[in-house]
Amino acid sequence: MADILYTYKNSVYANITNKCNCRCTFCIRFQKDGVGSSDTLWHQVNPTKEEVLNAIRNYDFTGFDELVFCGYGEPTCELDILLEAARTAKEEKSLKTRLNTNGLGNEQNGRDIVPELAKVIDSVSISLNAPDPVKYQEVTRPQYDNGFEKMIDFATRCRKKIKDVKWSIVDVLPEEDIEKCRQLSESTGVELKIRHFSK
Ligand code: SF4
Repeated sequence: MADILYTYKNSVYANITNKCNCRCTFCIRFQKDGVGSSDTLWHQVNPTKEEVLNAIRNYDFTGFDELVFCGYGEPTCELDILLEAARTAKEEKSLKTRLNTNGLGNEQNGRDIVPELAKVIDSVSISLNAPDPVKYQEVTRPQYDNGFEKMIDFATRCRKKIKDVKWSIVDVLPEEDIEKCRQLSESTGVELKIRHFSK
């Protein structure tokens, strides 16, 4: 049985679903089973809302102040669970909440979900992955057309409603792509975080 909650470095992470609407070439789902304190993050059966809420309620968060929604899938593919779990983490455990996302949640759910996220999520980290639509498509392989534009739109909507919003890229990108990502960040006002690649 895969863990719903696991620790990695200084944070507690929630792995609420394996569902995803992308097939990123680098996805950890296709490379290894476990991360941090979890031996496997691959759910045989995706957890129910009750199982996720119970996992949060029963977890000892001593020493941790933030719950990060992330894992082996895309949390916005289970929006109802995500929203309820984040609300529970804030209201019952006094935790900050962060969402790591591919930024395609509006498309996935057929509406602008940002106002709902803004009520229960304190910070959002969106995978930018590539500086333009062609490269984004190649790397991320989303189920939707125009995924790059949709991800950009999601990020700019988040920036207007949520205080801490960042795009993340990994420093394995060529310098000219990193520079284009910087320009995108400047033109949209969405902060860019360049993470060091680690296996
Ligand atoms: S969006 Fe995340 S979970 Fe989905 S395929 Fe890409 S890296 Fe994997």
